[in-house]
Parts: sequence; structure tokens; C-alpha cells
Amino acid sequence: MTVPFLDLKAQYRELKDEFDAAYARVMDSGLYLLGEEVEAFEAEFALYCQVKHCIGVGNGLDALHLILRSSGISSGDEVIVPSNTYIATWLAVTYSGATPVSVEPDERTFNIAPSCIERAITERTKAIIPVHLYGQPADMDSINEIAVRYGLKVFEDAAQAHGAKYKGQRVGGLGDAAGFSFYPGKNLGAFGDGGAVTTNDNVLADKIRILRNYGSRIKYHNEVKGFNSRLDELQAAMLRVKLTKLDAWNERRKLVASRYLDHLQSDTHLILPYVPLWADPVWHLFVIQSPYRNELYQLLSEADIGSMFHYPIPPHLQDAYAASASTPGKFPVAEQMSQYVLSLPIGPHLEKQQQQLVLNTLNGYIALG
Ligand SMILES: *Cc1c(COP(=O)(O)O)cnc(C)c1O
Repeated sequence: MTVPFLDLKAQYRELKDEFDAAYARVMDSGLYLLGEEVEAFEAEFALYCQVKHCIGVGNGLDALHLILRSSGISSGDEVIVPSNTYIATWLAVTYSGATPVSVEPDERTFNIAPSCIERAITERTKAIIPVHLYGQPADMDSINEIAVRYGLKVFEDAAQAHGAKYKGQRVGGLGDAAGFSFYPGKNLGAFGDGGAVTTNDNVLADKIRILRNYGSRIKYHNEVKGFNSRLDELQAAMLRVKLTKLDAWNERRKLVASRYLDHLQSDTHLILPYVPLWADPVWHLFVIQSPYRNELYQLLSEADIGSMFHYPIPPHLQDAYAASASTPGKFPVAEQMSQYVLSLPIGPHLEKQQQQLVLNTLNGYIALG
């Protein structure tokens, strides 16, 4: 038995007839960009996220970048980001011309620690980007409270959290705007790149609609210097199929997570993920922490079980940000996490026996000490 980290082929197989019909529909339509499928998907995903607007864009990085641009954030401004996120969160800020200002996460939830945000605010700070990392919502009430007090915008990076709820409300509508990614491996994944912005702000939504399409509202009339970042019809049609299954597939992820949580023997060598009372996570990833994570990775891989590190190097230590002169030790929480985290296989198609093999393999190691 092999246990893939995530089985995307199984997702295709489960809905093959619907995907194939959607494919034929789009190919037959002769309209491949900004047509009916994108419009329908935008309406359906807005409804799903309980927000007024959804604007399909090229990918998750663009979603965040366009949000920042359309909010007037630019060079000289600062934007607060988590120290332990995927680099896209930082790059979106960099592309807008602003400077990402790193804030450490809460050690238990992996999400940005509200108690550390205030210290990072200066007179240049314009916004905070909490990331709902691994599919678990950040502590939005505390973050929004700080933002209101300092007159800052809050933009959610919801790239890993389609369908997650904070105090009963879905992510995507918990701040001024949110960026989603439909990268194939995400909980709602396309068959290629895709992304979306969700917001309740009419003006922001209008600006992003124009910015994603060359700054143009009417063909060949360019109001602003825009970008080319459109969700294409084929991806939108595929996403419409998967959206009908998102809740059911998230439920299946939750079952896997509870099995892991119930049966993994946690001790000082293996720390399990923690879920605050107000969080309803969608388990994009199931991340344990261990000082022996390299050994555990090896052990799992010898048993044909896929596991990964999310992420092995925090953004401030990447060569890409070397010019910002961030030395090791500057963000110790993120740095330790990068050396302790191990993501176990999780997904809607992970079979019971496969889950059992993961449990047996890890618990066997713990028993050996
Ligand atoms: C995937 C991801 C992104 C970027 O999405 P792309 O569609 O790959 O551009 C941004 N932020 C986080 C936290 C992500 O996981």
C-alpha cells in the first residue's frame, strides 16, 4: 500500500462525468475568457463565502496583489504579514511597492499572534494580512479590533481555507477583502492556476474587476494601467463542479483530522495541531511538530507514505529577501516551526487503511522512544 500525500487523480475520478461535461460545454461555447462560466462561478462562490462580490483572477498571488493595489497601498507603506507563511503573502506586498513587516505566530495555532501585532505598527502601516494557515481561521476579532484602533485595513489570505469558519462565519468576508487561490492542491483546486478576490466593498470590487483586465471596463478603453490576470472559462467551469462538493470534501478531511487527533500519541516529541473553540478549520494541511521531524519523514517515506514540510524556510530567510538583511534568530518562533513542522497525508480520498498505516507508523516510532 502506498499513501500519497494528496490524491488529485482520485478527485478527478470521483467527478469525472461532471468535469467532462463542463469541459465539453466550454469548448463548444467558443468563449474562453470572461464569459458565462466565470460570471456564474463568481456568483456561486460569493454566495458560498457569504459576501457581496467575488472577482475571479489568475492566481492567489495576484488576488492579494490586486487587493493591495486597488486599496492604494504603494511604496513607502508597510503591511503586516505573518513570519511563517508561504512566500506569496510577502511577495504580494512587495509587488505593490510596500514593505512586508513580519509578525510572529501564536505557537499553538500557527496563526499570526494578535498580541504581537501592535508592536509592529508604525505611522507607515496601512494594512494587516492574516493568513488562515493550514485551513484554520486566524483570530479575526482581535485583529479587526487592532485594525479599527489604528485605522488599518485587514486583508485575509484565505488561499488555504476555502469554507473554514470563524465563530460561525465563513472566511472571505471577515475583513475588508480576501484573496483565494485555486492552485490544484488547495481545498478548492482548479486544473491549473486560478484565484479570486472576495469583498463586501463595492468600490474595491469595481477597481479589481478593471485592474484584472488591463484597466479596462469597455474594450480598448483603458482607465488605469492594469494587469492581465483573468480566471479562464475552463477553470471556472471545473471549479463550479468542485464547489458543489467542497463542503462534503471538507467534512471528509475533518474525519481524517479527528482520527489523527484521537489516535496519534502525542508527547513532548510529537505536538498535535490545536484548534481554538471559535475555529472551524477545513484541514488543508494536518501539521504536527517534532524535533525529530526529519527522522519521522524518513520513517514515513520508507513505509511509502508521503509527507511534506510547510514550510522548510521562512520568507525572511529566503535568498529572495536577503537584501532586507534578516539574520537567523530574528523570528525565532517561525524559525523553530520551519524545523519542526511535518504535514501528514490528508484529503477527501484518503482511505481508512491508509490513515491507519500513518497512525501505526508514527505510533510505532513513539513507542520505541
Ligand atoms: C497557495 C497560496 C498562495 C498563492 O496562491 P497561488 O494561486 O499559488 O498564487 C498565497 N498564500 C498562501 C498562504 C498560499 O498557500
